[in-house]
Amino acid sequence: ALLCILKRLRMLNNNSVEVFLKLFDSQVQPIVQYGSELWGLDKAAEHIEKVHLFALKKFLALDMRTPNDLVYGETDRFPITLNSAIRCIRYWLKLTCMDEDRLPRKAYLMLYNLDARGKRNWASNVRMQLFQYGFGFVWMNQGVGVVSNFIRVFRERLIDCRWQNWEDHIQTSDRFSMYRKFNSISHCTKTYITMNMDRHLKCIMTKFRLGVSELSVHYYRYRNHTEENLICPFCKEMKEDEVHFVLCCPVLDDLRKQYIPPKFCKNPCCFRLSLLLASTNQEIIRKLSLFLYKAFKIRDTIIS
Ligand SMILES: [Zn+2]
Repeated sequence: ALLCILKRLRMLNNNSVEVFLKLFDSQVQPIVQYGSELWGLDKAAEHIEKVHLFALKKFLALDMRTPNDLVYGETDRFPITLNSAIRCIRYWLKLTCMDEDRLPRKAYLMLYNLDARGKRNWASNVRMQLFQYGFGFVWMNQGVGVVSNFIRVFRERLIDCRWQNWEDHIQTSDRFSMYRKFNSISHCTKTYITMNMDRHLKCIMTKFRLGVSELSVHYYRYRNHTEENLICPFCKEMKEDEVHFVLCCPVLDDLRKQYIPPKFCKNPCCFRLSLLLASTNQEIIRKLSLFLYKAFKIRDTIIS
């Protein structure tokens, strides 16, 4: 189902993230979530997250090794395993309200008693999940008053904790230093991702923002880099980092005059580049993506 959606959207030349995610949530997620009431809190749930990440990375034309947290951040998504956990808790609440003579209820009571004797099972996962997110009292009471209200609060708690962990990872890792600079300015507004832009322009923009482009500092990040292979292939003087490539390198001056507003090129620094990347002005974003596309084309011809 996922590959079919990707193929059709490409055929229709539709690169809208909203459309893709809506199709994913309505056509793919129900399939991968099938039966998650039972396995949603197991380690097995991690497998469906692989499908989710594959979908996001494939749609954004990113390498599968791109850091997951950057992909979640750019698309404003949280892992779909959170939905599995919610489905599990909802089913548990349904069991707690069932008549005593129903078979699922009887089976649950067996699991509950086994858990009380220290045997880990499905009921133990539910118990641990509730205690982990501060809802131990719900387990102690074996139920809640209004299920829909509780599920809403539980869902919010899961999402809040998830974003807190995400923020913590982005803020503390050196790998994301550039990303966190412009992300903190734009306050999670990613205009470019929702803009109607050519696929190849959007792709180069995403790769540059996420630090997975062909730029030396990106390319050699996980490879054995020496000072020599980080040198800019154009001017052969400076280290080729994001600021040098977009705002400084003299060889790209003509291209820069054409596409980058002069105010960003005065006193080039990380902050100026962050302002440029965080811009919500569609014209500036479009021109920046054109600059990146053309500059990388020139770079390819020089290197090859
Ligand atoms: Zn240069």
